[in-house]
Amino acid sequence: MKNGHRNDDDLFIYEREIRPWLPRRIFDAHSHLLNATDHDDDQAAADPFFYQVDMKDLQAWWQLLFPNAKVNGLVMGMPVYNCDLDAENRFVAESVVDAEDRFSLMTRPEMAPEKLKNEIEKYNPAGLKPYLTFATVADKQQARITDFISEEQLQLANDFGLAVTLHVSKPRGMADPENLQDISRLIRQYPKCQFILAHCGRCFIVPNMADALDGLPTAENLWIDTSAVCETDVFLELFSRYDLSHILFGTDLVNAAAFRGRYAQLGLSWHVVTPDMVTRQGGLSARATFAVYENVRALLRAARFCQIGKDNIQNIFYRNAARLFKLTST
Ligand SMILES: [Zn+2]
Repeated sequence: MKNGHRNDDDLFIYEREIRPWLPRRIFDAHSHLLNATDHDDDQAAADPFFYQVDMKDLQAWWQLLFPNAKVNGLVMGMPVYNCDLDAENRFVAESVVDAEDRFSLMTRPEMAPEKLKNEIEKYNPAGLKPYLTFATVADKQQARITDFISEEQLQLANDFGLAVTLHVSKPRGMADPENLQDISRLIRQYPKCQFILAHCGRCFIVPNMADALDGLPTAENLWIDTSAVCETDVFLELFSRYDLSHILFGTDLVNAAAFRGRYAQLGLSWHVVTPDMVTRQGGLSARATFAVYENVRALLRAARFCQIGKDNIQNIFYRNAARLFKLTST
């Protein structure tokens, strides 16, 4: 478990801003494993965010960060650095053995529907996880949803009643009119497919969340996960304007959220910021906490200021996911 310990600052933040409001039952609807041998790239070794994460590591992080809670989650692979998708999917499927955990299979848009159907029948996943990095268009930053998961694959997700976690593209995420148009069509066309918009519909900053909510439909099969967003005002918008019964807590652990730092708004963009980037002259260094804690403290502060109440907080952290993923314990 790389860099897994809590210092005095982490404990201060946890005790003051997190523990008093954190439910004791949590479902993390957005988490990842990474099997290093399934990836092959010279650059991987130099990337501090690239390291092995097995199920024990993920569970150790859940335990470290939320010691007063029982945590389960939806687990996915990591597609980075020439990932062997078949091998990583097998690794994830074989790692998830707790009856209260779920997993999703990673997909590429060009994966043949027959092959995907075989994988679904073989592994019995709860969901699919397409990645916009696999989009079949030249400019991936402009990809539409069906550029990174095909209609045939969505039809399969519909047939098997699977969740599909979408990290949408476009500079403004779900605030983009084409993304709004596409999701409005897809939720109707594939009513048994459960669409999860990751990272608040990839709205890491408030102008995008506010505009997305102007056009975002609510539906039985449309969900929003809260992972990795660290701005309180994004959650103020979300909690005051969206259906609270369709919001799912998620962390984006391990590689993308266990680091010390945060996803920070800078103007109309957002970036990973880590302490070494903001160390001042004279050696006064930043004292960052885990990105997960930045996310959870922002979420809980917004929940308090929106006065959504304990029941809704419990729904967001567990019960909504329990309904979606048919979890048995309460
Ligand atoms: Zn993720």
